[in-house]
Amino acid sequence: MKLATFLLDGAMRVGVVDGAVIRVLNEDMDMIDAMYLYMEGIELKAERSVSASAVELLSPIPNPPQDVICLGLNYREHAIESAKFSNKTFVEAEKAVYFSKRVNEAVAPDGDIQGHFDMTRQLDYEAELAFIIGRDAKDVKACDAGEYIFGFTVLNDVSAREIQSERRQWYFGKSLDGFTPMGPYIVTADELGVDPHLAIRSFVNGEIRQDGNTRDLIHTPSEIIEDLSRGMTLLAGTIISTGTPKGVGMGMTPPTFLNKGDVVVCEIEKIGRLENTVV
Ligand code: MG
Repeated sequence: MKLATFLLDGAMRVGVVDGAVIRVLNEDMDMIDAMYLYMEGIELKAERSVSASAVELLSPIPNPPQDVICLGLNYREHAIESAKFSNKTFVEAEKAVYFSKRVNEAVAPDGDIQGHFDMTRQLDYEAELAFIIGRDAKDVKACDAGEYIFGFTVLNDVSAREIQSERRQWYFGKSLDGFTPMGPYIVTADELGVDPHLAIRSFVNGEIRQDGNTRDLIHTPSEIIEDLSRGMTLLAGTIISTGTPKGVGMGMTPPTFLNKGDVVVCEIEKIGRLENTVV
C-alpha cells in the first residue's frame, strides 16, 4: 500500500494511492493515525476517491513527532569518499554511527530546498532510504523487526558540510529549515519486506550523481532496530534514515556543491521520486 499526505481543497488529508486515483481517508486522520490502524491490521476506510492530479502532495509526515534518527557512513564507498574529503584515513567502523536531524517541517516532494547561502557555501545532497517505526520497539530482535516497521520512504539528508566540520558533530549542519525533503509516499512494509534491496539514485540538473542499491547498506533496518531498541525505546512514529551511497558533492573531484537554482532529484525504486529546487 502506498500512502500520501496532501492538500485537497486547501485541507491536509491522507489517502491511499492507487495508480492515478487516490482514496481519501476520513478528514480527522493524519498519517500517524493511519499508521496505528495499519499496524493493527485494521482496514483504512476511504470516504471518497479523487484524481491524483487534483491534489498537491506534501511530505507524508510533514511534522515528524521527534528528531529523525540518521545513520552516518552506512555504505562503504560513501565512508571512503567522506574520509577523503576530511583528509582522514578511512577506517571501517565496527558499530553503526547514529546522529539526529531536526525536521521542524519536512519539505514536500516538489518543494524548495532552502540554501542558507549566508551560512554555507558547501551545500550537499544525500539520497537515503528512510523507514518509519510503527509500534513502540524495546529489545526487539532483528528477526522480529518486521513487526515494528510501518513503511519506507525517500529522504534527502541535505547537509552543510563546513557547518558539520566546524561544529565537530553533524546536528546543526543537517537541521537547518528546509533541509529535509521527504516522500513522495510511504510504501508499507508488507509490500517491500523488512530489508528491501532497492535501486537508489540522485541527479543534479539531470546529471546522475548517486547510483546505488540498498543491498549495500552496512547496517540494515532490522539490524538497526535490534541495535537501537536494546537500550532505547523507539516510539511509534520515529523516522530512521539509513544513510547515503557514494556520489555526494563532497566526494567529487573537485568537490562540487549545490547552488541556487539547482534541481536535485532523489529516487528509490518502488517508492518514488523527490524533485526539489534549491532557492
Ligand atoms: Mg545522511
